[in-house]
Amino acid sequence: MLATTKQLFATLIIALAACGWAPRKDPYAGLVKEKPNQKFACVHTDAEWKKLLPGLSYSVLRQADTEEAFTGKYWDLHQKGQFVCAGCGQVLFSSDDKFDSGTGWPSFTREIAHGRVLVREDDSFGMQREEVICSKCGGHLGHVFDDGPAPTGLRFCMNSAALKFIPKKQ
Ligand code: FE
Repeated sequence: MLATTKQLFATLIIALAACGWAPRKDPYAGLVKEKPNQKFACVHTDAEWKKLLPGLSYSVLRQADTEEAFTGKYWDLHQKGQFVCAGCGQVLFSSDDKFDSGTGWPSFTREIAHGRVLVREDDSFGMQREEVICSKCGGHLGHVFDDGPAPTGLRFCMNSAALKFIPKKQ
């Protein structure tokens, strides 16, 4: 009797597992993915955003532009405090999770609380990347990569122009 496809697949998995192979875990599984019809609490028309945001913040947040490395306000900032979305003010990151990535962009190992950012597949420029957006206004913040340090192994590579730093009160 012929083995079913299911049996063949199971045998293959067992054989691969015996060789030390394991299915690769999704490094971004702990992050909230943007839904197909995602709703945002903070909504403005494009014309309103243009009026509300300074030039570079508008092109980063609303047009997914990227500021030039080593030019932003925060890549080399080492003060204690919180980083809020420059579009809507939602608190996104803490200085406690900021690290020197050497990239010239402010980098964090995690968001300040689960769901403050959403991830979206981005295949622009012939690359497969995870875009990071604000969960309250949908503004583009940067990208997340799986080559970050402990404890998460993630590197949230953000644009200074998409953030506003609120120093910790002494
Ligand atoms: Fe926002």
